[in-house]
Amino acid sequence: MKLEAIIGLEIHAQIATKTKMFCRCDNDSFGKEPNINTCPVCMGFPGMLPAINKAAVEKGIIAALALNCEIPDFCKFDRKNYFYPDSPKGFQISQYDEPLSVNGFVDVLVNGEKKRVGITRLHLEDDAGKLTHVSAGSLVDFNRSGTPLMEIVSDPDLRSAAEAAAYAREVQRIVRYVESSEADMEKGMMRFDASVSLRPVGEEKLYPRAEIKNLNSFKSLEAAIDYEIKRQEELWANGEVPKSPVTVGWSEEKGKTYFMREKEESADYRYFPEPDIPPLHISAEMVAGYRALVPELPGAKRERYVRDFGLNEDDARILAEDLKLARYFEEVVALTDDPKRAVSFINTILMARLNEDLLAIDEQKVTAAMMGELVNLVKNGEISNNVAKSEVFEEMYLNGVAASEVVEAKGLKQVSDSGAIEEACRKVIAANPGPVEDVRGGKDKAIGFLIGMVMKEMKGQANPGMVAEILDKEIK
Ligand SMILES: [Zn+2]
Repeated sequence: MKLEAIIGLEIHAQIATKTKMFCRCDNDSFGKEPNINTCPVCMGFPGMLPAINKAAVEKGIIAALALNCEIPDFCKFDRKNYFYPDSPKGFQISQYDEPLSVNGFVDVLVNGEKKRVGITRLHLEDDAGKLTHVSAGSLVDFNRSGTPLMEIVSDPDLRSAAEAAAYAREVQRIVRYVESSEADMEKGMMRFDASVSLRPVGEEKLYPRAEIKNLNSFKSLEAAIDYEIKRQEELWANGEVPKSPVTVGWSEEKGKTYFMREKEESADYRYFPEPDIPPLHISAEMVAGYRALVPELPGAKRERYVRDFGLNEDDARILAEDLKLARYFEEVVALTDDPKRAVSFINTILMARLNEDLLAIDEQKVTAAMMGELVNLVKNGEISNNVAKSEVFEEMYLNGVAASEVVEAKGLKQVSDSGAIEEACRKVIAANPGPVEDVRGGKDKAIGFLIGMVMKEMKGQANPGMVAEILDKEIK
């Protein structure tokens, strides 16, 4: 019997707001002393009234629109009741049957093929605190308690760990593009729960799933799903088809999932409408206003770069990865009308240095305007490509000097004076009778050698097109 994996993801992404979801506490607790960003609201003291953070709702709506979701004109918050020591209220404020948004999708590239992944819903909720287990017991830090989250629930459309990771990366790019979340996995701003089940190929029904909780890197997401598929394949092979859903954890050290509990169903949480928060009405006009704030998204950018600029898929993907980088590239293209040269300077020369120095595009000295000038100097034949990519770029990158100033100060201008080039060509021809005979005899390879010698003679500053032309004329 051939089995296929049915995978769905819940992605929790921290919303990039200044304050928490329902109180005015600072939302940035990274690296801070435990329990300093707290107040009676996010500590769940009796009698405290939560108030909705408008920015969190707006950023949620914009992310939902970027994920092609519909925004119903009515949504409400609900209490999800459960006891856990990191949750001081004894419940989480989430959205149950009437969430902020529903019915979206994301197109994901998997091995060069486009796959559409459905999004069931994106809803808002607040986060719990954090437990640290030490030998003497457990410590709790409530700084994260009340942090705004968006939970993005996919349809069970994914069929492999690789597809799940590609989908999760695309969602990360999108929420970053619209600035709804920084989605920095290393700071715990984005985490995944993955539901995995198997079924015989051809069947429509879904079998009970295992939900793997709290995966906090793309690597563990893939490894945990792969492990869980193998584990369930063995169960099926032994005739032990799963009969009820389970919740499992992932042990990074052992590379295995482990049983946590029978999976809770929604009835276990005794959901009821949150009495302290009024429902939200979001009109069609408001949605249209938010939609206008959604920029062109990475998928559309990649396609446009290939279609309009003639880039290859890899270059387009690298540039569209980050909105700031994409904007930089587009600015250079606007200044030069030369996307091919722009991409060769940005993706090879500049990106190599940024990767080496672990810098982002907006943390370095070569602005888009400066890069545009450099590309134009090459395009107009004023400096050679080699000189531009080595000496000139180096000085720009290290010291923030404009390309034209570097060229002027170092005397790097390309020589297009035919007299000087002719003189160098004659000298090279006289000194290399062998290769010259080869060219006359029709061996075209030798011409490359002679061009190289002339360029060397002229310290790399000769216009290579003119060198080839003059050499050809002189030899024949
Ligand atoms: Zn608070």
